[in-house]
Amino acid sequence: MIGSRKLYVKSFGCQMNVYDSQRMADTLAPEGYVETTAPEDADLIILNTCHIREKAAEKVYSELGRMRGLKETAAADGRNLLIGVAGCVAQAEGDEIIRRAPAVDIVVGSQNYHRLPQLIARAEREGRVVDTEFPIDDKFDHLAAPSRAATRARGVTAFVTVQEGCDKFCSFCVVPYTRGAETSRPVDKIVAEVERLADAGVREITLIGQNVNAYHGKGADGRTWPLSRLLERLARAAGIERLRYTTSHPLDMGDDLIAAHRDLPALMPQLHLPVQSGSDRILAAMNRRHTRADYVGVVSRLRKARPDMALTSDFIVGFPGETEDDFAATLSLVDEIGYAGAFSFKYSPRPGTPGAEMDDQPDEAKKSDRLQHLQQVIDRNQATFNRGCLGRILSVLFERPGRHRGQIVGRSPYLQPVQIEAPLALIGEIGAVTIMEIASNSLFGALAQEPALAAAGA
Ligand code: SF4
Repeated sequence: MIGSRKLYVKSFGCQMNVYDSQRMADTLAPEGYVETTAPEDADLIILNTCHIREKAAEKVYSELGRMRGLKETAAADGRNLLIGVAGCVAQAEGDEIIRRAPAVDIVVGSQNYHRLPQLIARAEREGRVVDTEFPIDDKFDHLAAPSRAATRARGVTAFVTVQEGCDKFCSFCVVPYTRGAETSRPVDKIVAEVERLADAGVREITLIGQNVNAYHGKGADGRTWPLSRLLERLARAAGIERLRYTTSHPLDMGDDLIAAHRDLPALMPQLHLPVQSGSDRILAAMNRRHTRADYVGVVSRLRKARPDMALTSDFIVGFPGETEDDFAATLSLVDEIGYAGAFSFKYSPRPGTPGAEMDDQPDEAKKSDRLQHLQQVIDRNQATFNRGCLGRILSVLFERPGRHRGQIVGRSPYLQPVQIEAPLALIGEIGAVTIMEIASNSLFGALAQEPALAAAGA
């Protein structure tokens, strides 16, 4: 322990980055770093970056300009503020970051952040360091576990990374290049992490991975376990009431995983299943390796297994070559599936991906029009789904205090936020809530029956 120093981590992008940021904080806690929410107080700032969205690298550089000001102010106060860049932009840009932003002391790739203590020591001793090699050692074996208090402070739901990387090579996506090939964590490591989280009061686990349903981890029996078997094992972990997983590829929705939605009560009836387009022509150009009919077939098998399954998705509009007919096919797919929600984005070329080399990139105005139209259709679907919950009694895991006094907020099985008037003591409990009102995609209700409070000390 080297005395108390303050750490500020800013996460961009997906849940995997949120999880990685927490693990960075856990890794640095034994070194005396305590997290702060105020960057101006920090001794170490880490930007955990994402490369998915448009101009991701440019946004990081502009944020680094602001950080340089903080570094200068700290130096004037006699403090040495270290600045680190982690995550996918760090992985993709490497040395270029130091060249363009000399205030940066540490550049660390997605597979290397377990080495942060050594990288910080090197940066303090020798100056700037860059570590973006894909190492042979598994970072998960070297990461410190969070303390029970740190886990409790993060709430009653938690993400657990079980898989990283992707072998699918969709033609618009940088993930296979920034996160590398698919790898899966061994079952026993995941079970141990989930049991530790449960022991600290976590009730809901979301297993995460860039292509999580391609999970193929080694079990204690020496065999390769698919995600369905891992879920079945985790459903038996004491204290874990709810399981989810994200993000999935339609091709990897095997019969065993679909059956798990029928057979495991802990597995929530909600799935984020990106499709990106409703047009077979565009799906082929995107190298998605499935057709619209394949996708619809997966959804119909899922709904046969679990009729109340809530589906969400991702869509890209304006992919190279997308015609009005292709776009109309996307709109019709949204209505055919009846989504509970979806993310939609305008296509923007990522350097180094096949999509960036394609001709016939639609113009910006057309992309904007299509995006707006698609979002209206998605919103209408979401409103219909939410209206279907009115008057129903849903089980809700209460997660945190609401914005108003006397209010607490939880999540339904379908991942909708649900607000009720109830005491804070119910946080961490699952209660039956009658849904009485819907506003801005939040559900409002009242306890249908009091949940039994967990035994003291649980
Ligand atoms: S499956 Fe997902 S992560 Fe993999 S290349 Fe396609 S979009 Fe990217």
